[in-house]
Amino acid sequence: MGRSDASTDRDVPADRGSPPPEVAVVGGGAVGVTAAADLAARGADVTLYDRGDLGAGSSGRAAGVLYDAYAEDVDAALAARAMERFRAFDDTLPGFSVTPCPYVIAVRGGDPDAEAVPAMVDRMRGHDRDVSLVDPAALGERFPLATDDLAVAAVADGAGWCDPASYVAATGERARREGVTVETDTPVSLAGEGPGLRVGNAGTGRSGTRREFDAVVVAVGAHTSAFLGDAGREVPVVPYRVQALTAGVGGGARSYDGPMVYDATAGAYFRPHPTGLLAGDGTEPVPADPDDYDRTGDDWFVESVSATLRERLGEAAVEGLDVERAWAGLCTATPDGDPLVGPVGDPADRVFVAAGWQGHGFMRAPAIGEHVAEGVLASLDGTGAGDSESPWIDAFDPDRFDGGEEFEIAEGMSVESRARE
Ligand SMILES: Cc1cc2nc3c(=O)[nH]c(=O)nc-3n(C[C@H](O)[C@H](O)[C@H](O)COP(=O)(O)OP(=O)(O)OC[C@H]3O[C@@H](n4cnc5c(N)ncnc54)[C@H](O)[C@@H]3O)c2cc1C
Repeated sequence: MGRSDASTDRDVPADRGSPPPEVAVVGGGAVGVTAAADLAARGADVTLYDRGDLGAGSSGRAAGVLYDAYAEDVDAALAARAMERFRAFDDTLPGFSVTPCPYVIAVRGGDPDAEAVPAMVDRMRGHDRDVSLVDPAALGERFPLATDDLAVAAVADGAGWCDPASYVAATGERARREGVTVETDTPVSLAGEGPGLRVGNAGTGRSGTRREFDAVVVAVGAHTSAFLGDAGREVPVVPYRVQALTAGVGGGARSYDGPMVYDATAGAYFRPHPTGLLAGDGTEPVPADPDDYDRTGDDWFVESVSATLRERLGEAAVEGLDVERAWAGLCTATPDGDPLVGPVGDPADRVFVAAGWQGHGFMRAPAIGEHVAEGVLASLDGTGAGDSESPWIDAFDPDRFDGGEEFEIAEGMSVESRARE
């Protein structure tokens, strides 16, 4: 997985006489736009479709928290590659920047999750992630945070934040420069078996124009289950609602320039933001309808985040809390918390899916998009998912489920989720 230079490498097709494969990427979020650019950079003839604008889905509503603090080996490798590419894009993509910023995981006294943190940090360090266990008092000395009620904390120093919409826009421009045809305001649907699409009029009952491709990549985020289900492919990717807000803090001071903090016991996080801070939590563990959910933040969410900020930053910050905007968006859950990435259904259909990020899709998008590009091209070259040289990741096999599973939606950032074997 991965290359040293994020933006300039090419996989030149072995046979220069044959036409390049025609690949459709459906979904212009962070994952789809990266996959489209990376496919084109490797020689494919790519058309990227979005039913709205690029970034119209979850990617345009994400918080932009980036870290590589994962305990599981595949996750850690993907996240490391994603951070490497984010940093490279900071130099090479006009309009995109990453702000380095430590990421603190804090667990309060009395929270049983505290016991899992040292082993979790050991596993992260075992994958060469720059994560350390920190005594709460030492944390309070290093950062402007209240730490008296904490049992344990960890600091990931290889982290940072960015504006997700700017990543999608800048990568969309990179895709165009690589030769991708970008079709926005163009809903599509799968046209039966094989890599064909009905372009336009999807969901309206009218047929649209049929177009055949050599492969179709489905990166439609919260619409994944409905999109594939309409073509008879059942996958358990369940959308759920999460919330975030931006606010000025501390009266006149407005800005927050401390670390990013995930208060695991409260299930809330915050990070610096150009207008003060950005904070989020509000995971609703119930399925949401991607075509009909409330996109505004709830009052209870603002109150609950304010309480966490009061506890971590002190009363003064919250007294001056000036909420600019509170919003909701969708994340996607799977039965085992791992995403679905690879061929879905009969490999001969050449339909590939990339979805089910459990709240971590944006920060892994540069690596996942690259992985999808390499996987699709290897598959078109005849490398099966089960072959030893296949780049697809077994743990992410889209066909590991029946599709009809019922399961509880688990919050993806929790210590339990991160520490699981
Ligand atoms: C409030 C909030 C905060 C978050 N914070 C973070 C964070 O800090 N870090 C992180 O890693 N993740 C975060 N996430 C999760 C992150 O947003 C997602 O995991 C990620 O954006 C998913 O990207 P995607 O490209 O898979 O999907 P999306 O960005 O949802 O893109 C899917 C696209 O498919 C298009 N589409 C759907 N159906 C069709 C169709 N039929 N035809 C054509 N196009 C179609 C949609 O219009 C959409 O643009 C957050 C999410 C929310 C809501």
